[in-house]
Amino acid sequence: RRFSIGLTGGIGSGKTTVADMFAARGASLVDTDLIAHQLTAPGGAAIAQIHAQFGASFLTAEGAMDRARMREYVFSEAGAKARLEAILHPLIRIETERAAQAATGAYLIFVVPLLVESRGWRERVSRVLVVDCAEQTQVRRVMSRSGLPEAQVRAIMAAQATREQRLAAADDVIDNDGDAQSLAPQVDRLHAHYLSLAAQAAA
Ligand code: ATP
Repeated sequence: RRFSIGLTGGIGSGKTTVADMFAARGASLVDTDLIAHQLTAPGGAAIAQIHAQFGASFLTAEGAMDRARMREYVFSEAGAKARLEAILHPLIRIETERAAQAATGAYLIFVVPLLVESRGWRERVSRVLVVDCAEQTQVRRVMSRSGLPEAQVRAIMAAQATREQRLAAADDVIDNDGDAQSLAPQVDRLHAHYLSLAAQAAA
């Protein structure tokens, strides 16, 4: 199996920003959020099962999963989250492995927002990379990007692993409390490290 990194971090921590910087240096990205979105977009592989299990009222006129409706439902209805995940997780797994097979970069980075919270990911990757910042920084970034009220951002964060739990799972950490410029030297250093580990793994 190829050398791979599982990149994670809380909402608004900077996962996408950091992942794009590794990609610019030659890593291949497999974004599990993007895959989940594609599965639930019009014509996506999960749509037929969502229709069968939840009904047409959970689809938009275009035939995508109605994300707002589904989010509200899984928050309020016991068991609904597990039913949705039972549909999505096997499909995400298949598509993720397909994307990994097709990747041609120097090494692989799986971007997995809920890596620490989900089963199986830590065993799947060679190393876990956590993008870390203070909770107050997360709140500020998400509020300014999305316009969500602070209470709602805090509620999303409360449903995720804590900063401490994430750091405990980390092999490597990128500190993203500073400005964007402070990321480049950290990414450069880790990229060099990952290239050498990937070369060792391939030897
Ligand atoms: P999500 O979990 O919500 O998808 P994410 O972890 O992928 O978020 P990003 O989308 O990379 O995080 O960053 C969140 C927001 O904060 C973006 O608007 C991004 O431009 C901004 N941001 C990220 N890092 C920094 C930084 N070091 N300085 C200033 N702004 C930043």
